[in-house]
Amino acid sequence: MTNLDDLPIRDDLRGLKPYGAPQLDVPVQLNVNENTFGIPEAVALDIIQELASEVLRLNRYPDREFIELRGQFAAFLGHGLSASQTWAANGSNEILTQIFQAFGGPGKSALSFGPTYSMYPNIARITLTDYRELPREAAFELSSGYVAEQLAAHKPSIAILCNPNNPTGTSIDNEVVRAAYDAFDGILVIDEAYAEFSSESSAVELLAGRPRLIVSRTMSKAFAFAGARVGYMAADEAVVDALRIVRLPYHLSALTQAAARAALRHAPEMLANVEQIKVQRDRMIAQLGLLGLSAYKSEANFVLVEGFENPNEVFEALLARGVIVRNVGIPNTLRITAGTEAETSKLLGELALILG
Ligand SMILES: *Cc1c(COP(=O)(O)O)cnc(C)c1O
Repeated sequence: MTNLDDLPIRDDLRGLKPYGAPQLDVPVQLNVNENTFGIPEAVALDIIQELASEVLRLNRYPDREFIELRGQFAAFLGHGLSASQTWAANGSNEILTQIFQAFGGPGKSALSFGPTYSMYPNIARITLTDYRELPREAAFELSSGYVAEQLAAHKPSIAILCNPNNPTGTSIDNEVVRAAYDAFDGILVIDEAYAEFSSESSAVELLAGRPRLIVSRTMSKAFAFAGARVGYMAADEAVVDALRIVRLPYHLSALTQAAARAALRHAPEMLANVEQIKVQRDRMIAQLGLLGLSAYKSEANFVLVEGFENPNEVFEALLARGVIVRNVGIPNTLRITAGTEAETSKLLGELALILG
């Protein structure tokens, strides 16, 4: 084997490492914001049946336009959306990549407000899109005035607002989305990966009459379907047409489509634990206060916890005790996913012991 540095790789990729959180097999995994409750058995059986019926047809390419699944996403999102206004891909990371392929690229720019999702700069780099991250306001919040002012000043080709925001948990209301949309002429992406946990309204209700607005969603978090790799979005039909130009043919496999169709038929059961996860999130916030820590306001299924003198030491100590959390590199903080009641108890108990 040769060394990566010896290959004629793109100059801008030289010296880079693959992105991704450590995948360690420990009992309590609170590091990547999955729904830790898993899939109800009755739903799992229905998914298996749907998959089984596809297997004998795998010699054929799948429906390239996955119209049935898109119709289900439209019905799930409501607000009178039709199948032609929705789109899906292998995780919302692929949705975002397709958006950058279609609306970014050389000579185009993307803008976001950090700290935010660390894949945005990666996707910008892969698609040769200039990327700028402006700071969020106090306590990682965003106001409509600030957002509008910055978008008007920078005029990006693509602006991404993550709502609720990963890794801070903070959220914006639709007034900020409206102000952002009106402030510039580019594509406005609202990344709603955690929308099901939020008490704020979805930007889906703003889509009518706003052809440059894209709402990105995923089945990876609240839907307990991270392993299936299904992300989706809603937007004007013309935006869908743009993504259909850059997508690879048959990008969504017949098995992925089948699994997603079955899971969506059981949406209420798949989402049944969302309330319980919010209870554990709020319990975590309250209990962390007793340990001398504080959490940023969260509308997601995780909290950004502040007050660690040495986050890496605490990360390692928790790991040694069978709990993995995430150090996202914000000084004195760790990001912790809200899990089951038992997992949250284990996390809080170990944290109390570690902090003495
Ligand atoms: C987890 C996450 C995603 C996407 O995940 P997929 O598994 O690719 O759907 C997108 N945006 C944010 C902010 C996330 O945290």
